[in-house]
Amino acid sequence: AGEFPTDFIRSIINEDQAAGAYDGRVVTRFPPEPNGYLHIGHAKSICLNFGVGEQYQGARCHMRFDDTNPTREDIEYVESILADVKWLGFDWGENLFYASDYFEQLYEYAEQLIRDSNAYVDSLTADEIREFRGTLTEPGKESPDRNRPAEESLDLFRRMRAGEFADGEYVLRAKIDMASPNLNLRDPVLYRIRHAEHHRTGKDWCIYPMYDYAHSLSDSIEGITHSLCTLEFEDHRPLYDWCQEALGVYRSRQIEFARLNLTHTVLSKRRLRQLVEEGHVAGWDDPRMPTLSALRRRGYTPESIRDMCERVGVARRNTMTELALLEHCLREDLNRRAPRRMAVLRPLKVVITNYPEAGSETFEAINNPEDETMGTRCVPFGREVYIERDDFMEDPPRRFYRLAPGREVRLRYACLITCTDVVKDELGEIVEVHCTYDPESRRRVRGTIHWVSAADAIPIEIRLYDNLFTESDPAGSETDFLDLIDRDSLEKVIAKGEPALAKAQAGDRFQFERLGYFCADTDTQPEAPVFNRTTTLRDTWAR
Ligand code: ATP
Ligand code: MG
Ligand code: MG
Repeated sequence: AGEFPTDFIRSIINEDQAAGAYDGRVVTRFPPEPNGYLHIGHAKSICLNFGVGEQYQGARCHMRFDDTNPTREDIEYVESILADVKWLGFDWGENLFYASDYFEQLYEYAEQLIRDSNAYVDSLTADEIREFRGTLTEPGKESPDRNRPAEESLDLFRRMRAGEFADGEYVLRAKIDMASPNLNLRDPVLYRIRHAEHHRTGKDWCIYPMYDYAHSLSDSIEGITHSLCTLEFEDHRPLYDWCQEALGVYRSRQIEFARLNLTHTVLSKRRLRQLVEEGHVAGWDDPRMPTLSALRRRGYTPESIRDMCERVGVARRNTMTELALLEHCLREDLNRRAPRRMAVLRPLKVVITNYPEAGSETFEAINNPEDETMGTRCVPFGREVYIERDDFMEDPPRRFYRLAPGREVRLRYACLITCTDVVKDELGEIVEVHCTYDPESRRRVRGTIHWVSAADAIPIEIRLYDNLFTESDPAGSETDFLDLIDRDSLEKVIAKGEPALAKAQAGDRFQFERLGYFCADTDTQPEAPVFNRTTTLRDTWAR
């Protein structure tokens, strides 16, 4: 394996380069529609397009907003998309484009199609057009307007633009083949009337180009050589080609690859928007969402997402990627980079009865056993410490190597303690345990547990997450995906953290020993940290 991945798309580009195709140029683009936040599926396309743009001599990748559908697009999405692409580590340089900047050119192309009898203005309604289109087994029916003289179509098209008609009164259709086995070629609609305000062009336009037309010609206008898109567009390719051929403009090549699918989530903007708009989650960046902004907030690193995309690779076969792979990539990255800290999620007080009442000392703790350069820190210790409730059992099985009456355990970095007593309230609930400590502490014992000093600990809010969906393929299930939401997928606890955590700033990532990786949330206030558990330590990725 070299520095760059290998896949069938890069093989095609290599061949094109060897043959001197496209004058030796390689130009790709990432063309999101600004109608939602980017999700991790988009990351695959970003890594591929920008990756190719970085790989070849003189190559580049255009960042292009495919903003041709005014109704659900917004500047908020434009900004979030740019921030997410940057965060992932890619740079479009000067190559930031908007398809809406081509509206005039696209309009002129449409007039040319009409003059060349390659397009006509049709007065059928949307329902009629659907009806006339036929089915896979039945040829379509020609519209009575199909042979409208070019002059007449031209006049109507200009009046469409001038705003003389209401939404839906007319459309512009390509004149291709109503009997084509490919339904996309049965005189597809190229333009529709939509009296709507556009986030960039305002009220300049009341006709808007359809996706296939706008996309093909935007690629051509920008001199895109390899237009990489997902497999659903395979049978749109003949229309993509037709638009460029009919107009005799620069020819780009569309190549399809399989989209990323990830278990336990949904990767479709439509569904994600529904989750946000109906309040099933707190927002696009709710840490349970698969959007890049949510993954960032939760504590995912851009490196781990790029690593996953590279491991999944680019192919033409549709597969389902295990969420466990993404988590595995994250753990590998954070294991190397995240400083260790101690925090106790569900505290149980331990009183060390043979330790001086007002005594205190500090122990040196290693910040990252994987990276010596990260050094050590001092953690305070005293007569009372908190340990995890789970790390104590009054009546444990033989193989429980943590704390229990009469048993000895090591407090990490500190000393050995032996449980001598259990204190309960009237209801029989354990309120604290008493131990004695051994200042020598040289012996080896089976169990080591984490802890924090009760006198020094700070309260930290911790948000624990489960998968948002109870099934591995919520979008593919027979049950509506909204009914598969795990309503208990967020749990908030007030934990006890070592004092160093008071200084945490939003975005800081740590491993809390034995508990997982955590990231300070954007809700963090000075001296009042809020942490998201990004992931636990247990890696379930098996390969
Ligand atoms: P969605 O299907 O989630 O609504 P979309 O395809 O409509 O997404 P666009 O904004 O049009 O969203 O997508 C921009 C680019 O990202 C397109 O080239 C698209 O093919 C690609 N893309 C979207 N989803 C995925 C995915 N799951 N895997 C790989 N590429 C994707
Ligand atoms: Mg789209
Ligand atoms: Mg889509």
